[in-house]
Amino acid sequence: MPLARFTNNSGMPMTTQRRGVMLIAGMLVVLAAIMPLIGIAAYARHDAAKYELSHVQEYSEWTLQRAGSSLDVARSVLDRLDKEGWRDCSADHMARMRVLAVDGRSVEEIGFFIDGRLACTSWGRVTSIIPSTPPATVLPDGTAVHLGVASQVPGAAPMIALSRPSLSRPASSGSFHRVLMPSERLLDVLTDTEMALGVADLQGNLIAVRGAIDPDTARTMAARGGSGRMGTHFYAVGQNDDFRALAVTDQSLVAARISQDIWRMLPVSLGISAILIGLIIWISRRNLSLEGELAVGIKDREFFVCYQPIIELSTGLCVGAEALLRWTRSNGSSVPPDLFIPFAEQHQLIEPLTDVMIDCVVTDLAELLRRERNVHITINISAQDMESGRFLPVLHRALSETSIDPSQVWLEATERGFMDAAAASKTLRSARENGHMIAIDDFGTGYSSLAMLEQLPLDTLKIDRSFIDAIGRGAATSRVIPHIIDMAHGLRLNIVAEGVETVEQETYLRKSGVKFAQGWLYSKALPVEEFLQFFQDQSAAHHRPIPA
Ligand code: C2E
Ligand code: CA
Ligand code: CA
Repeated sequence: MPLARFTNNSGMPMTTQRRGVMLIAGMLVVLAAIMPLIGIAAYARHDAAKYELSHVQEYSEWTLQRAGSSLDVARSVLDRLDKEGWRDCSADHMARMRVLAVDGRSVEEIGFFIDGRLACTSWGRVTSIIPSTPPATVLPDGTAVHLGVASQVPGAAPMIALSRPSLSRPASSGSFHRVLMPSERLLDVLTDTEMALGVADLQGNLIAVRGAIDPDTARTMAARGGSGRMGTHFYAVGQNDDFRALAVTDQSLVAARISQDIWRMLPVSLGISAILIGLIIWISRRNLSLEGELAVGIKDREFFVCYQPIIELSTGLCVGAEALLRWTRSNGSSVPPDLFIPFAEQHQLIEPLTDVMIDCVVTDLAELLRRERNVHITINISAQDMESGRFLPVLHRALSETSIDPSQVWLEATERGFMDAAAASKTLRSARENGHMIAIDDFGTGYSSLAMLEQLPLDTLKIDRSFIDAIGRGAATSRVIPHIIDMAHGLRLNIVAEGVETVEQETYLRKSGVKFAQGWLYSKALPVEEFLQFFQDQSAAHHRPIPA
């Protein structure tokens, strides 16, 4: 009993495919558990980086505004003093500078230079010689910026000094006002996380910087502009017509946010994993159970065969039928052959299925075939059958036990069955020797070459339904049909047209010299009793001679 090879004591199959399904399912379960986690980690990283960039961008803009308004105060103080025409370091002049230094938020001290030397400040006259030095940078509006300038107040931290060209006096006069401002005034921005801030000129030369950042790194960022990542930092540079502002954070902040986000999204990831694992288990169980059910179905003979009449076009007579397997499961549901045949092929169950089909055909039609020696039955042979040739002795024994002539059983194989050309050739030659006719099924849908058609021992070519369907529709495939017919004639092959549904198609095929046709125009595949009735009715209508 061939089925014994496929079932264990419980009736369930234990094939290598079954183990394969379980192994693949196991691997998929592991992936389903890991992938969503990797996914959310990647998403959290991306999201945190995006957030951090927009965070520093916001702060670079604020710093730009803050530094701008501090600079504006300094500029307006300088312009005012210039406009008021103070230039003598008189008591009134110094009193005026004092008032403006106190009023001007961000301005700490004001000084006046005469002939390039500091003569007085808002604190009083200057006796020591303090010459003016060249500025570190000059902003596009003409404001000169000096860095690290000492105040007149002993012990005060060095500050930024700003001066502007006079509107009324020539620059060469050497007399000008200068304001001192602590560099932090430019960076007076409250930050919600630890952040380094900086102000630079448009070339990236730093004017002021605050926070833990290496000055070289800050300079490179300021010079580069825009926003992005540099080393372990996220940075953004804002810019206006005069200067640039920089905000920088460290990635350790982002790392903390990433792990926060991962924890937040963990339930979602676990949910997705659970759904995926459930799906994998469901599909593999279905797969395993369909495999099991197929094996049980074969053992319990849940299969039967329907017969689709084949018509000789010149006479309109039914000259045979194609055997098509049907599966009705114990629960009453039907599984279409397009599903269970490929499935049986994948799970090494096609050979026992072919045995069942042969057994059904012989049981169903032995009587008819013995009576009508010109009638034939075509049976479908799968690629695996073709490769092993195992069905041949089974068929041979079944036919000899029932006295059916092997010439009455035609074998149909699709082009897939000829892929292993050597094995196919061997099986087909043995089949030929046994007396069977051979047809190539679904012709035109595979890869067959003319050379292959010439080499293999073929008798009949079945033109695929898709080509018949195209007849009279002007579709591209309809232009192929005449070539297929010519080629088959050239190779002296019989032609069966599959899927004939209209009289127009039938007329075209008959005129083109096609010998046989099969399709819903004549009949669908019928259960055996209905087929026998169809055959009888059809014979009577055509006055088929009753054999003696
Ligand atoms: P196939 O060998 O190409 O069989 C022809 C299919 O076309 C059949 O579908 C048939 O019912 C359908 N058909 C016939 N005339 C018409 C028509 O005029 N219009 C339309 N739309 N369809 C038509 P079925 O019975 O569902 O079989 C599907 C496939 O399953 C078969 O295609 C064959 O490849 C496979 N199959 C069926 N029985 C067996 C079997 O015993 N062994 C093997 N290996 N394969 C089988
Ligand atoms: Ca077929
Ligand atoms: Ca076919």
